Amino acid sequence: MSDELKPAACPFCGHDNVDVFYEGSSDWYVMCGMCIADGPSGGSKIRAIAAWNTRRPTPEQSRETRERAESDALTLVGHAEYLRGMGQSDMPSWFLGLAERIARGAGLMTLADRCAAMDRSALGREGSDADQA
Ligand SMILES: [Zn+2]
Repeated sequence: MSDELKPAACPFCGHDNVDVFYEGSSDWYVMCGMCIADGPSGGSKIRAIAAWNTRRPTPEQSRETRERAESDALTLVGHAEYLRGMGQSDMPSWFLGLAERIARGAGLMTLADRCAAMDRSALGREGSDADQA
């Protein structure tokens, strides 16, 4: 038997980092690896995927997800700026990349573009602005 039915992108954050999990007894469910939303457990694997694929967030849930994504992304940007101030370059870039993915997944394109621009400017500016001890 082939599993042709695949879980669709997350209806909450738009990310395709979703997977099917097995929960003990006989319950399968789908969970988003980005925003941790999980689907209704639907008994069989196929039914769990089908339930997930027809799931739609309420406007309230969409708003909460976007606000959480924005808050998470801004926190990561803050970490990146702090670490850059400490003279690091690897982790700030990683944080900015993650912030960009979170923002983009939630449809916050302006914020995503800002994160990407910050990452690029960090690379271009290296050595001119940093206080290297
Ligand atoms: Zn999600």
